[in-house]
Amino acid sequence: MSYPARAVVDLAAVRSNVRSLAAHAPTAQVMAVVKADGYGHGLLPTAAAAVAGGATWLGAAQVDEALALRRGGITGARVLTWLYAPGAPLREAVEADVDVSVSAPWALAELAAAARAAGRPARAHLKVDTGLGRNGLTPADLAALLPEVLRLRAEGAVEVVGLWSHLAFADEPEHPTVKHQGEVFADALRTVDAAGVGLEVRHLANSAATLTTPAVHYDLVRPGIAVYGLSPVPQLGGHDDYGLVPAMTLEAELANVKRVPGGHGVSYAHQYVTTHDTVLGLVPLGYADGIPRHASGTQEQPGGPVRVGGRTIGVAGRVCMDQVVVDLGPDATEQAGARVELFGNGRDGGPTAQDWAVAAGTISYEIVTRIGARVPRVHVDSEGTAP
Ligand SMILES: *Cc1c(COP(=O)(O)O)cnc(C)c1O
Repeated sequence: MSYPARAVVDLAAVRSNVRSLAAHAPTAQVMAVVKADGYGHGLLPTAAAAVAGGATWLGAAQVDEALALRRGGITGARVLTWLYAPGAPLREAVEADVDVSVSAPWALAELAAAARAAGRPARAHLKVDTGLGRNGLTPADLAALLPEVLRLRAEGAVEVVGLWSHLAFADEPEHPTVKHQGEVFADALRTVDAAGVGLEVRHLANSAATLTTPAVHYDLVRPGIAVYGLSPVPQLGGHDDYGLVPAMTLEAELANVKRVPGGHGVSYAHQYVTTHDTVLGLVPLGYADGIPRHASGTQEQPGGPVRVGGRTIGVAGRVCMDQVVVDLGPDATEQAGARVELFGNGRDGGPTAQDWAVAAGTISYEIVTRIGARVPRVHVDSEGTAP
């Protein structure tokens, strides 16, 4: 492989993270959310590892992602998809044994039509908007839709498998909306119960709620970011505190190393200027590879962290499309080809995706999901077993 950088994904970490999440939610099954190419970690390998770690469900936002799981041979888990517009390939979803979320009357009608075309009942999860104000039926719209749901169930077109919702402040467990959304959800459950719908699963918790709010675990939890070993609540605890191991290491080989005098401007617009004779290293990763341009560095404010030869230094100057520069210092002994790590599991004191999130003023989710498509994903298994 000639690409001088790669995202190495440890599937043993994914398995171990799923086990940790299951231990945090002992009354619930685990749905590992693998949307957005497994949060940038590679859809099929991480999905298979999550299932090997004990996930009995997989969550995909887009219908195409859910279908890709089935096409890729993932059969050992239920799959739920929830984000689509009119005209989505719901018949294919039903035929592939993919559960489909319903957030609107048109979606229920399209799902029923898909089931008739497929000649088998669709498995539906009714989504209720308990206060996030995003997708889902309002509680009033849910109640109004129930007669049609019951009619389609009697017809044999639709099985009602789940009722579910999503929290607005899961990362602030004490926020009053968490309790309030739980109450609205409990109300919606009573409404559905009263209509005589026997549900298989009720689910409300993402990673943050899985780790911090047992009251909303219900039958199934839906962690995403924590499956990949990153803390959903960095202000409350790091990955170590929750028994998580960051699965992705972003590494590269230096593409050039050179000595320059003091007063040398570095990268576009000379945002960084050397203060003395020093050695610059060129890292062949830039914003096209997902390195946030907001993590550019100056002399006063070092940019995103890079681990080189056991020390951690900040990006010097502007992050470019394909590359960034690091100031290795006057005594550097690194040569071109030396390995550098932008983030990893943090075990040796090296930087993590969370550190890059802080440097760029964002969240770790955005760091890992935006690693560019051209960066090769290399899947390894630190336990040496097949996923
Ligand atoms: C993405 C997503 C999740 C997972 O969220 P994390 O914060 O990554 O755990 C769960 N549920 C829904 C509806 C989502 O969109």
